[in-house]
Amino acid sequence: MIVGIDLGTTHSLVACLKETGPELIPNSLGEYLTPSVVGLDNAGELLVGRTAQEFMVTAPERCVSMFKRQMGTEWKWTIDNKAFTAVELSALVLKTLKEEAEQYLGESVESAVITVPAYFNEHQRTDTIRAGEIAGLKVARIVNEPTAAALAYGLREQDQERLLLVYDLGGGTFDVSIVDQLDDVLEIRSSAGETFLGGEDFTSTIAARVLESKGMVYEHVEMKEPERLSRLRRECERLKRQLSSRDVASLRFPDARGHFLDDAETIEVNREQFKKWTSHLIGRADLPLRKALGDAGLKRSEVDEVILVGGATRMPTIVERIVEIFGKEPLRRINPDEVVALGAAVQAGLIDRNEHVEEMVVTDVAPFTLGVETTREMAGEYRSGYFMPIINRNTTIPVSRAQTVQTLHPNQTEVKVAIYQGEHRKTDQNLFLGEFQVKNIPRGPAGQEIEIRFTYDLNGVLEVEAMVLETKEKFQHVVTRYARGMSQRQIDDAIRSMENLKKHPREESANRYLLKRSERLYSELPWGEREQLDLMLKGFEEAIELQDEELIARHREALENFVNLFDFSEEDDNDPQSEQTDDW
Ligand code: AMP
Repeated sequence: MIVGIDLGTTHSLVACLKETGPELIPNSLGEYLTPSVVGLDNAGELLVGRTAQEFMVTAPERCVSMFKRQMGTEWKWTIDNKAFTAVELSALVLKTLKEEAEQYLGESVESAVITVPAYFNEHQRTDTIRAGEIAGLKVARIVNEPTAAALAYGLREQDQERLLLVYDLGGGTFDVSIVDQLDDVLEIRSSAGETFLGGEDFTSTIAARVLESKGMVYEHVEMKEPERLSRLRRECERLKRQLSSRDVASLRFPDARGHFLDDAETIEVNREQFKKWTSHLIGRADLPLRKALGDAGLKRSEVDEVILVGGATRMPTIVERIVEIFGKEPLRRINPDEVVALGAAVQAGLIDRNEHVEEMVVTDVAPFTLGVETTREMAGEYRSGYFMPIINRNTTIPVSRAQTVQTLHPNQTEVKVAIYQGEHRKTDQNLFLGEFQVKNIPRGPAGQEIEIRFTYDLNGVLEVEAMVLETKEKFQHVVTRYARGMSQRQIDDAIRSMENLKKHPREESANRYLLKRSERLYSELPWGEREQLDLMLKGFEEAIELQDEELIARHREALENFVNLFDFSEEDDNDPQSEQTDDW
């Protein structure tokens, strides 16, 4: 079975294609959204998802979130002397989703379509494939998130001829894509984005402003009082979500250790204030919009529908800005948190030749310009390091393009072809993808011609071929996403080290989540209630220790009731299963 996976900055989802269409797969807690958070508890046991997210509030130093932002880098996080890369952390999330899907579907899941932001470069895409492999998944295809969203809408609303703009504001990233829909055929015209703009920046801004009002600086608090910041961010996140559906909301200000004492101050924020605080972020979203429209050669008035993707598009300020720019309300018939995963499942169905999606066709674009390094003659001197584009950004793929280069010196018999990806004039600012040598060029005057052909396919495989025009001799180099980064041995080592991590059996995940949630709530409660909660927690822990199912169930129910009564941090969170997406 091939599933579709949305590996998100803040949340990840898995879906599959059923007869009735794409369907989300719930995790063991019955939820569709699994937080992309990984932690190691004090006993060195691995926590992934909601449980890790709860644990992060009281033990931020033992948890990692938002690691998607570091894909493509060597960045490492250390917990208990164990270092994790973004690839390994992503692998842990993917492995969890794979296991949850297998459990739910009752069959094994061998491969997956995984979505990435459209502007992810080759290294970030390779890292995503690596993460899949470490998780034990064959990555059938990497698909751009907006392309997936267009597929989900395209399948639901087939007989349409329209120009769609996908506005995707997730937890950490912003993406815009322009898609031409002609019935079953979806053609991606252009994509543009910003790597460091997302819902989390709105949360950070609220936290920074609140701290500022107390004479504190965000960065200092982050370093010196991480518990305070972690708790405050959670409060800000809740406030932000509440402001999506009401005019005023409030948060509690935690003390230095991240606790809410009885006299913890309550701070009110209204929509107007929030809008002012975050106007710089809204402004930053305009640039990729202009770029995507410009690359597709379109005016904003030509856009027929704007599709909303990503939880952060629930913020009314975003919708207001879209109405301002395009003069129309955006479409949100499919839940913006879920649309990418649903589209990934449609793509999985296309690869699997599933009869329910047989008619659909989707074409994508090359997200970055691809080209080679050249040397230029300037004032009698040769200067290397210039970038010569061969396939321009936003060209529809699959594509094959050629350019001719010439030898610079008399009797030059060899030329190095260095391949780069990026938008800069100089290669040192672009991403190096590989190189090869062209040999046997016939001796003679300078100016011998070599044709360099780039062929880029739907799987992101780039084949570069150089032909010496005089002799017709060809030299070839293939840049695949598999050629860089970790060797098979390194992947095997990573798989082994992941397997060595202690993990609780899946059946216990609901209990573990309740434990972590209760522990987090404990630190928030006043003394009287704390004692009560402590007693109930003790009973629950003992029951788990004794492995007495009946006793566990009894204590769980009591504890759950208590926690639900006092834990108001869950209210106003989006409940994807009950949401009426059409009219929120
Ligand atoms: P995603 O990566 O698509 O899961 O996006 C998650 C982001 O959406 C996070 O930054 C959330 O804070 C944000 N988000 C989710 N629901 C809401 C809401 N109701 N109002 C504002 N932001 C939200």
